[in-house]
Amino acid sequence: MMRIEPAAWQAMVRHAEQSYPNECCGALLGVVENGVQRVSLARPLRNVYAGDQRDRYEVDPTELLAVDREARAQGLQLIGIYHSHPDADAYFSKTDLENSCPWFSFVVLAVKKGRVEAAGCFVPEADQRSAIRQELVLPEDSRFCTSKP
Ligand SMILES: [Zn+2]
Repeated sequence: MMRIEPAAWQAMVRHAEQSYPNECCGALLGVVENGVQRVSLARPLRNVYAGDQRDRYEVDPTELLAVDREARAQGLQLIGIYHSHPDADAYFSKTDLENSCPWFSFVVLAVKKGRVEAAGCFVPEADQRSAIRQELVLPEDSRFCTSKP
C-alpha cells in the first residue's frame, strides 16, 4: 500500500496540471514502515523525452541519481516515480511497462482538460510484461478519486 501525504500530493497535482498538455514526471520520496510506503515528498523531475511529450516521458538518470542521494541524506528513500497521462486514464501503458523497473512503484495521474481527475499506483512484475495494481491512499480532503483495483 502507498499513502501519499498532503504536501506531496499537492506538489504532484500542481506539477501534472502545469505540465499539461505534456506529460510530467517526478520522484516519490518517503519511508517504508510495516509494508506501507509513506510518501512525504514529491520531487519534480525534468521530462527529457526528445519527441512529442504529450504521451511520453523520460527521466534523466543522472537527475534521478542526484535525487536518490538527496533523499538518503534526509533519511528518506526513493520509493517510486510518478508521471501524468494528459487526456488519458490512470492506467499503466505498454510503454510505461517497458520503461519501468520492478524495484519502484509507479503512480500515474490522469489529467483531463488540465485537471487531475484520478490516480493509480502500479508495481511492475520482474519480467516487465505486466504490472500489479497497488492500493493507493490519497489525502482525505483531496478532490480526486483513486481508480479502484
Ligand atoms: Zn504512462
